[in-house]
Amino acid sequence: MEIIEKAPAKINLSLDVLYKREDGFHELEMVMTTVDLADRIALKSLPEDQIVIRTTNGVLPLDRRNHAFQAAKLIKETFAIETGVEITIEKKIPIAAGLAGGSSDAAATLRGLNRLWDLNLTLEEVAELGSKVGSDVPYCVHGGTAFVSGRGEKVEPIGEMPQCWVVLVKPRVGVSTGSVFSVLSFDTVTHPDTAGMVAAIKAKDYAKMTQKVGNLLEEVTIARHPDIERVKEKMLKFGADAALMSGSGPTIFALCDKYSRAQRVYNGLKGFCDEVYLVRTLK
Ligand code: ATP
Repeated sequence: MEIIEKAPAKINLSLDVLYKREDGFHELEMVMTTVDLADRIALKSLPEDQIVIRTTNGVLPLDRRNHAFQAAKLIKETFAIETGVEITIEKKIPIAAGLAGGSSDAAATLRGLNRLWDLNLTLEEVAELGSKVGSDVPYCVHGGTAFVSGRGEKVEPIGEMPQCWVVLVKPRVGVSTGSVFSVLSFDTVTHPDTAGMVAAIKAKDYAKMTQKVGNLLEEVTIARHPDIERVKEKMLKFGADAALMSGSGPTIFALCDKYSRAQRVYNGLKGFCDEVYLVRTLK
């Protein structure tokens, strides 16, 4: 038997870091939504007690460093499952990009194994397990548009956001999330209006949403990679309604309510960066 799960990328419409906690994690307040750029996860039972990862992407680790492997190992150990699984990851989401590709693969693996092994866990129970694999995994288990807080384990759906087109640009630089957080100084940062973003989404007010996008980590990443600022400027010049870095970067997204405008942003950026995607928000 084979189970297929879609693992979509997320973008942060708002990302705020409130403070560093005593346990070393940061207290976050974020608004996330998913877009239709997705990895495909195929799960097949194996009679032997092993986890085998296959992937179309040459650089992904195939061992315990892979987030999908960690998700499968956690489920096997928690429920004392003695058979194995082959996990095939068809990778479409850029890696280390601020789009939660690894977390989404882990979330899809948890959801899929819940079905493959008839565990009958609720989505909340799957998300709770996911928090042991990574901070973005509980959100990725649920997907949709959500207010996410704590270190990522508190996920509150906030209803459908107004659908729009999204142009994603992944500059060639790699960004490590840990290194961005390690140099964050709370004295100098500007906090985004996350509550305002939640209110705009609940009111289905697209124009307000485009004014409320904000990411506290942007300043830190842009200081190291000024190209990100240039991509943002170009997106706005080509007609984007809003442009913002996702997660800890380096991917920048543009929001456009009209397809023709999104195409103009896409074409304009295509000549400037190699990795450019034109996608839609998911319901
Ligand atoms: P986030 O937005 O949650 O910070 P990200 O999009 O920046 O995530 P990922 O694509 O998840 O970052 O990759 C981060 C690291 O995780 C990379 O070094 C990568 O090698 C490793 N990794 C492990 N498993 C996976 C996977 N299945 N897909 C992508 N990266 C993975």
